[in-house]
Amino acid sequence: MRHITLASGESVEVECLSCALVNGLIAPEGGVIVETEYFHAHQDVAYPVPGLVILASKRHLKALDELTEAERLDYISILSKIRKAQREVLGIESVYYFYNEDTTHHFHTWMVPRYEWMYQFGRSVESVRPVLLHARNEMNGGQHIAEMTKAIAVLTKALNRES
Ligand SMILES: [Zn+2]
Repeated sequence: MRHITLASGESVEVECLSCALVNGLIAPEGGVIVETEYFHAHQDVAYPVPGLVILASKRHLKALDELTEAERLDYISILSKIRKAQREVLGIESVYYFYNEDTTHHFHTWMVPRYEWMYQFGRSVESVRPVLLHARNEMNGGQHIAEMTKAIAVLTKALNRES
């Protein structure tokens, strides 16, 4: 069990933080970017990289092969829509996707956009960890937060247009 404090100041115990988040018990900082029947997308604001998206299943599960057929279709569909919005409204040319089954965590996919400044940490997948540490430790202020907040807003708008 984990102890969390709600925006109201009320304190509750939850078994899984992601479950509490995707089911609306707690609101993600920065807000919900988009929600479908089976998935929920938000930015992990601890990593202020504009357009970085966490896509989590609403059901508590760990591995990809636990998804039902309906969840699988919903997953690839929303993943693609988010990717398209990143390209169209944020100009993001490349994205790293990863998720990890080797944890006790709830199923979630990281979508980490590639930016020019990341080349100082290498060219490919080996750069992702130092990039995220850099974002968390060195970008947690002023302009970076403002850029991230703006990116969340434009992605949210693009993904919730009536189609
Ligand atoms: Zn969970």
